[in-house]
Amino acid sequence: MDQDNYSFEMTIAGAAVSTDRDLDVRNPATGEVFAQVPDAGQAELDAAVDAATGAFVDWKARPIDERRQCLVAAAEAIEANAAELASLFTREQGRPLPGAQAEIHGAAYWLRSTTKLDLPVDVTEDSDTRRIEVHHVPLGVVCAIVPWNFPVLLASWKIAPALLAGNTMVLKPSPFTPLCTLRIGELLRDVFPPGVLNIISGGDALGPMMTAHPGFAKISFTGSTATGRKVMENAARDLKRITLELGGNDAAIVLPDIDVDVVAEQLFEGAFSNTAQICVATKRLFIHEDIYDRLRDKLHALAQEAVVGDGSQQGSRFGPIQNEPQYRRVMAMLDQAKENGLTLLQGRDVPEKGYFVPLTLVDNPPDDDPVVTQEAFGPILPLLKFNDIDDVVARANDTEYGLAGAVWSNDVEQATAIAHRLDTGTVWINQNLQSTPFTPLAGAKQSGFGQENGQGGLLEFTTPKAIYIPKAPAA
Ligand code: NAD
Repeated sequence: MDQDNYSFEMTIAGAAVSTDRDLDVRNPATGEVFAQVPDAGQAELDAAVDAATGAFVDWKARPIDERRQCLVAAAEAIEANAAELASLFTREQGRPLPGAQAEIHGAAYWLRSTTKLDLPVDVTEDSDTRRIEVHHVPLGVVCAIVPWNFPVLLASWKIAPALLAGNTMVLKPSPFTPLCTLRIGELLRDVFPPGVLNIISGGDALGPMMTAHPGFAKISFTGSTATGRKVMENAARDLKRITLELGGNDAAIVLPDIDVDVVAEQLFEGAFSNTAQICVATKRLFIHEDIYDRLRDKLHALAQEAVVGDGSQQGSRFGPIQNEPQYRRVMAMLDQAKENGLTLLQGRDVPEKGYFVPLTLVDNPPDDDPVVTQEAFGPILPLLKFNDIDDVVARANDTEYGLAGAVWSNDVEQATAIAHRLDTGTVWINQNLQSTPFTPLAGAKQSGFGQENGQGGLLEFTTPKAIYIPKAPAA
């Protein structure tokens, strides 16, 4: 595919759809516009919802195995085009190629793996007189809204369970990263029956327009906590079901028995992978005072070694911040940290052009500084000293967020005991950034509402339906 001359179109009712208006898409490594996408308005949204509503009747009636086959075929189509998609991904998202490839293959893996899940029929009574069966039936048309940090993987987390359960969908990528998603929509036009999976792109007005649309039965949203609140307000109008995967300010707690040389690289990756634009990245690193200086210096050395640069160039380990508004937010946080007199330990210089930010460690700032209390969603990592377990657990939990956390220790029993005390939906011990199609990702507190992945994530795209079946004909 010649990406410079490629026109990106939406997919509605299995057909290509464009608009009179276009949106520019920029390469964050250069800041330059390199593609245009349709800017859908109410008319295109209505058409997509109508197509999905029409397709729902047939799709939900199909045996689940037929829906499974379509999802497996979707995974195959993505894998067959993985090289093209990965290079496009790097240009629009900024992440270096190996990470881009991992995301494309990860999405295919999720589509395929989710088909191993099943919709159970629960029998709550089977007596002489009757049998009560609880089926899990699809909801209707799902509104799926995705952010820019993992645009393809997070779309697959919604497409796979929603469609497997028998729903149809209208999916909107972020205006900052629409290209791979639109291209995947095109690749899947012949894989799903027309109208089952509709993909539309648009600007800031489109998200609220979608969540207000009465044709949707469910909203599956991933993005910031601030936007999640707005989604919930709109959903309340007609009681749409919602799943919200929102922001986090994850703590990792490092105990003194750990081998600093062994874990430093993993801790570094857990904080800075994808240039720290990961909802479940380590965003507050609590280090026991006995190993604080050694681990801080080791992390600083790693930051000075790591090349931050254009993801399409070999040797770049970390890419730019994905978009200009986010870049400005992260730079403002850095400026504020300097103004507040915090000690910043930075990595090597970054390119001047594009949205690049140097990897930055903040040396033991106060707990109430914005660099600690706010989700940076960029490469600024506060290192925080502790010497008491009860105290560090309280500090880790002192946040409105509750997405994930990690504990690092050679004493796995003690680490597990601490894990139980963290108020988050996920805790990793001596690892981080892990998720599987069979394990719920659920934000506690203001990190979310409901869950994605696993059996529970599948059931969020259904509603229970109890059928009372008598054992004898009506008297
Ligand atoms: P965002 O909330 O600005 O945007 C997310 C999506 O919502 C985009 O597609 C955007 O166009 C759309 N949108 C914006 N305003 C809307 C509105 N009023 N109504 C409906 N849709 C609207 O988030 P972002 O900046 O794209 O992503 C970063 C945030 O996402 C971070 O806070 C991060 O932690 C979070 N995130 C969470 C998870 C998770 O699984 N919990 C995963 C990835 C990212």
